[in-house]
Amino acid sequence: MAEVPILVVGGGPAGASAAATLVEAGLRVLLIEQRDRLGGAIHRQTASGAESPVWRPARHRRNWAALTARLGAAAERIDIRTQTVFLGVDGEGRFLFEDRRSERVLARRPRAAIIAVGAIETIRPFPGWELPGVMTVGGAQVLLKETGRPPAGPVLIAGSGPLLPALAAQLARAGNPPVAVLERGRPWRAPGALARLILSGGPTGEAASYAAVLAAHRVPYRCGASALRAEPDGDGLKVACRIGTSEQSLHVRHLLIHDGIVPNRTGIPLPAPEAAVPVLQAGDGREALGADAAILDGRRAALQVLARLGHASTAGAASLERPLQRARDFQAALAEALHSARVAPSPETLICRCEGRSYADLAALAEDASAREIRLMGRFGLGACQGRLCGPMIEALRAQPLPATSSPRWPLRPVSVAALAHLTADETE
Ligand SMILES: Cc1cc2nc3c(=O)[nH]c(=O)nc-3n(C[C@H](O)[C@H](O)[C@H](O)COP(=O)(O)OP(=O)(O)OC[C@H]3O[C@@H](n4cnc5c(N)ncnc54)[C@H](O)[C@@H]3O)c2cc1C
Repeated sequence: MAEVPILVVGGGPAGASAAATLVEAGLRVLLIEQRDRLGGAIHRQTASGAESPVWRPARHRRNWAALTARLGAAAERIDIRTQTVFLGVDGEGRFLFEDRRSERVLARRPRAAIIAVGAIETIRPFPGWELPGVMTVGGAQVLLKETGRPPAGPVLIAGSGPLLPALAAQLARAGNPPVAVLERGRPWRAPGALARLILSGGPTGEAASYAAVLAAHRVPYRCGASALRAEPDGDGLKVACRIGTSEQSLHVRHLLIHDGIVPNRTGIPLPAPEAAVPVLQAGDGREALGADAAILDGRRAALQVLARLGHASTAGAASLERPLQRARDFQAALAEALHSARVAPSPETLICRCEGRSYADLAALAEDASAREIRLMGRFGLGACQGRLCGPMIEALRAQPLPATSSPRWPLRPVSVAALAHLTADETE
């Protein structure tokens, strides 16, 4: 079986930073990315490969240009495989990938692995969130970056977090400002957290630039406001919203929802720094701290691997803890400023879209039902997404993870039998 020195999974800022640090230290790296190109969530390019026309702050563009230049400077030591999906680790400790170009499953046993697969979005479910016309803010942002085209017709953005004004400003710049942004949190109720945010030296300038774009396009940004339910209405949606103490109905073509991001852990092997093959996580997949911290965290993971393999001392990785802590403090202040009490959804609210299971079905399970009972008796997380979407919702509603989110199994993604047959024929000898 082919061996690789160091494996990095994920070509976003964290994976690129980890790979650059390793090749600069003279090691060879295999960098795996499932998409057509490197870039991750924030630097997603257009489908044709051209630079996305969607506006990004200059700081992010400079950071990405510097990372790609570092990778390019050590091209002879790095094997970058795009359209290659990490499937998991098999029972014999082999890392498995599907090369989507050749439709083959590859097995590799690296000396060390850094998993930097980013974060996934969460939502707070409400009746109608599953309807056509509703999508996540991150999903809409990816579409916008890949096509350069904003969704047609009136758009409403609802939920919580910094991605709401970011996408609203990008839509406005792309020619379709949303009708409103509904932020669930009430930041004025947390003046201490607001003060910490302002004094943190974090990306408050970026927030101010989004605010300026929204003001220029007269996009209302309402705090303490949320989408309560959506129903089909002609070729769009009727969305009942709570704005302050009043309820209003808005007719839109698209409702974009988002309530933060959490590390993407579905099926990901748990970090094992002391194991024979050290496996480390990096970036938003380890701790969702944002794009700047992801670059630091990728470097931190690479320095830990170098120390583990005897190429460096542990001091380098330790020196990054302080700036990472600053990013953590910033995110904690942001979470406190935007905190809102969680209200149980109404009984008919769908929780598991794949299996059509509602909040009533979840509430009917015994209060002390184990995660396995929720899965097998409640039939949550058994469908096509294997709990990727409903898992975080159930975890938030019951303060309990589904087993699928904690036990790594492969394949993480559907894989064809033909591709697996290639593995049997070519990679197991
Ligand atoms: C939807 C979304 C939108 C965001 N938008 C913004 C924004 O507008 N502004 C901002 O400042 N921050 C934004 N963020 C946060 C920012 O993107 C992250 O902080 C930063 O990109 C994290 O870098 P990362 O390398 O850890 O993860 P990512 O950038 O997410 O990169 C992870 C990479 O791993 C790849 N991957 C995942 N699973 C596999 C697999 N099984 N096999 C192979 N490859 C895999 C992904 O395709 C991706 O390229 C967004 C985050 C999300 C989730």
